[in-house]
Amino acid sequence: MTSQITRTGIYPGTFDPITKGHLHIIQRASKLVDHLIIGIAPNTRKGPLFSQEERVKLVSEDIANMHVKHCEIEVEAFDELLIHYVQRKKAQCIFRGLRATSDFEYEFQMTGMNAQMEPDIETVFLMASDKYQFVSSSFIKEIHALDGDISKFVTPAVLSALEHKKNQRKS
Ligand code: ADP
Repeated sequence: MTSQITRTGIYPGTFDPITKGHLHIIQRASKLVDHLIIGIAPNTRKGPLFSQEERVKLVSEDIANMHVKHCEIEVEAFDELLIHYVQRKKAQCIFRGLRATSDFEYEFQMTGMNAQMEPDIETVFLMASDKYQFVSSSFIKEIHALDGDISKFVTPAVLSALEHKKNQRKS
């Protein structure tokens, strides 16, 4: 008799907005689990440009254009402590992307706290690729607000959403 084990992973983040750096992590994480949930956090601390609903929509659009084999990807908003969300979804691991210097301290602390609260859930770090090492949602927003070209770092759908936001703010 063969038993089917489904491996579920959660990739949580603010995704304000989703970048090609995030997409690269999603592509790679999708090779490691059968079911990948992209959890969009409210993150009022960071004062997001896009509402949680808008971010879910943008991430879903980008995912729909992605070629993924053997993994079901789901996008949803969550609004609770990450570890409770992971337990509720019965996921085995949390995925996080790690850029050279900027992410380490925060990620190290968060992983430590999560491991104390729920030792059975592993955090898996995927190193950012050279190409996207310096790409961050906050820089993208800043550069775009000052009319810089960010088309290399986000998909056309995200670029047009940023344009739309900028025009809304001007009027
Ligand atoms: P958070 O507010 O949780 O840091 P982000 O949307 O900024 O949410 O990032 C979600 C995850 O993606 C984090 O683990 C972050 O380190 C990672 N990440 C962000 N940008 C990149 C990138 N360019 N390459 C790889 N990982 C990234």
